[in-house]
Amino acid sequence: MFSELKPLPTDPILGLMAAFKQDTNPNKIDLGVGVYKDEQGNTPVLKAVKKAEAFRLENETSKSYIGLAGNLDYCQKMENLLLGEHPALLANRVRTAQAPGGTGALRVAAEFIKRCNKDATVWVTTPTWANHISLFEAAGLTVKEYPYYDYENKDLLFDEMINTLKQVPKGDVVLFHACCHNPSGMDLNAEQWSTVADLAVEVGFTPLIDIAYQGFGSSLEEDAAGLRKLAAAVDEMIICSSCSKNFGLYRERIGACSIIAKDAATADVSNSVLLSVVRSIYSMPPAHGADIVSTILSSTELTQMWHDELDEMRNRINGLRTLIKESLAAKGIAQDFSFIDRQNGMFSFLGINKEQIDRLQKDYSIYIVGSSRVNVAGISDTNIDYFANAVADVCK
Ligand code: PMP
Repeated sequence: MFSELKPLPTDPILGLMAAFKQDTNPNKIDLGVGVYKDEQGNTPVLKAVKKAEAFRLENETSKSYIGLAGNLDYCQKMENLLLGEHPALLANRVRTAQAPGGTGALRVAAEFIKRCNKDATVWVTTPTWANHISLFEAAGLTVKEYPYYDYENKDLLFDEMINTLKQVPKGDVVLFHACCHNPSGMDLNAEQWSTVADLAVEVGFTPLIDIAYQGFGSSLEEDAAGLRKLAAAVDEMIICSSCSKNFGLYRERIGACSIIAKDAATADVSNSVLLSVVRSIYSMPPAHGADIVSTILSSTELTQMWHDELDEMRNRINGLRTLIKESLAAKGIAQDFSFIDRQNGMFSFLGINKEQIDRLQKDYSIYIVGSSRVNVAGISDTNIDYFANAVADVCK
């Protein structure tokens, strides 16, 4: 049976990571992989996480299963983090299942959508995080795209997006990135979120929010403002969240899938289906990551420590965006890179062509994925000048 299989190409980012590892140039820069890095290029464990882990080591009393929905305290704290004191929460319309990372949450959501409407199409932004498409298709759903990023003007294609979403059949699902759009860094503003919320009600599609970078854009509250606005407008919504980035818990695989239903009774029914989906995929989620997040969010001291560390990560990213803009401008490059400072989160498209990307890798050991998406957190005070000179050279 296995001999019938055909080899598949490796994921381009994983290939890039391998090439970077082998490169012996001491000046090499990795702008490919999507994890936060500090000034030294490390992705350290947050101090708040270390403290919570120490507490867990001392106080954990059992390794028995934690149940289909996972850690219920974690689920409740995630609902509060995502929605604040939201009318949907006060009306008991929200149900949450802990999931193995944002990816696991999206896969659970995909299976849940299929149980609701097996013919539903999921609409995603052009472009989007590549895994969105494979993930929904793997669950047997049809995926279509709606216009989002304007590569030419480094802005949103907002009118085109709205015009397409107006045509979406009722019963379809439309995925939105809550903040820090991956891969473009281009987010909706408050007014645009209001337009989208009105449209969701008018057209009757179900919003699916992917929030993988809460706190990496403007603040924990502001980054969730769009999703809260949508949740206040519609009867039904799905939220897939991840603690990989904002808690730095990447390898612990911790996220959540939240369902907002039109009333408490429908929420209970939805929850029973959600848990049956979980049961059929991985039965029960792992415990460690959820325990860390719930321990942090249960302690005023650890929450403050986490907020401070999250602020530090965000401020570093936003500072780097300004630094990149200014450093590239100072090299007198004809191309305008000021858009980098207007975008959010770790990613932006540099907007250079394939040949320039290849030259950056070959001549300078600067590793960027083929779409020209860069992870700005790979830049530092030490390598910015090297980077700016290299970009100036390939853009000559
Ligand atoms: N959604 C988006 C938009 C992402 O960028 C990512 C991570 N790259 C995820 C979801 C999934 O994150 P996780 O590692 O928690 O599965």
